[in-house]
Amino acid sequence: MHVGPSISNYNVLSSATVPNIGFASPEFNSAFKYDLEQFMKITGADESYVPFILPGGGTVSMESVVSFLKKGSRVLIVSNGAFGDRWEKIFSRYPVEFKVLRANAGNIVPVSQVKAEVQEGGYDAVTLTHVETSTGAKVPVKEMAAAVRPYVDLIIVDGVASVGGERINTSEWNIDVCLTASQKALGAQTGAGLLVASQRAVERLSENSISGFFLDLRNWLPIMKSFLAGGGGYFATPPIGTVFSLKKSFELIEEETPDRRFERHRICSEAFRKGIKEMGLEIVAAENVRSNTVTAVYLDSVKIQDFLSTALSNGVELAAGVHEQIKDRYFRVGHMGWVEPANIINALTVIENSISTLGGKVNKGSALAVKGVFERGLSGF
Ligand code: PMP
Repeated sequence: MHVGPSISNYNVLSSATVPNIGFASPEFNSAFKYDLEQFMKITGADESYVPFILPGGGTVSMESVVSFLKKGSRVLIVSNGAFGDRWEKIFSRYPVEFKVLRANAGNIVPVSQVKAEVQEGGYDAVTLTHVETSTGAKVPVKEMAAAVRPYVDLIIVDGVASVGGERINTSEWNIDVCLTASQKALGAQTGAGLLVASQRAVERLSENSISGFFLDLRNWLPIMKSFLAGGGGYFATPPIGTVFSLKKSFELIEEETPDRRFERHRICSEAFRKGIKEMGLEIVAAENVRSNTVTAVYLDSVKIQDFLSTALSNGVELAAGVHEQIKDRYFRVGHMGWVEPANIINALTVIENSISTLGGKVNKGSALAVKGVFERGLSGF
């Protein structure tokens, strides 16, 4: 139940264990094409977008967006926590100007504040973090994108903790870049950063782009287009095992259907939050911004590190806090990818027992209390 890599599906993980198939082989070409197409589908990107799959992870896809910027470009960073702040760390390495709007832990910068800033600011781009993994707070991307669209050229969404678990309609919501990593809500093996880029974004790739060599998307663009057209190509070695693992993930997503997958995430997260409340614990994210993929929970009555080790020795791996403001006062849980009701019930039981073993304050019986959520929610499944 870590926030990423997320819960395993052994078919998906073992699909990565292929022989070292050449990246020019027909098997690889067809797996890569399938992944690119399916990734566009799960992000709601129409055919005017270009998908990219790069070796690496979320930070690679984040940093690759500097390809769309040039010297002196102005970027507004909307940061609701540690991963929003990562944009600041990235952009500070490049000759761009940026400003950061920040929210307190568990909250989000309101749409009205972001709109007021872009109206005044003359920004080229704005970055949003769909689900802030350090707190579990979710941005209403559709609303936010509609509010800023008239004032900025590029709307960039970090969907690392959302794509595959939360609905996102890149074309319809007029987003320019939606990016993620293979190991989170897509539930595949670690090793790939993925993004889709709008025509508007792709047109900004030029000699004046400020990226370095490896992450210059101009180097990857013809390769991606070639794979999409049924061919192949090489710029740098792709993450071959991860491409096959992603293929298995996407096949399972197709089988389940994206709608049912999003609904499963919604139900599992609702049940998890209910169980946490039954225990008498407080959720970090404000009530109206809670995500379906990550929940952060305050825990004051025992030491967080002791709690995490006890939970781990009982078979459930949880994540420590990383938000600077509240770091030592909370823990995080990922319920994304292949999460099922049994994982939620097991996690709640282990959380409850770990706190009580350590002498902390907790109400017992949370797993039983969430039964109704699953019975109601999953009845149509
Ligand atoms: N953005 C968000 C929202 C994340 O949760 C993470 C990873 N936890 C990243 C970016 C960075 O991704 P990676 O660790 O795969 O580089």
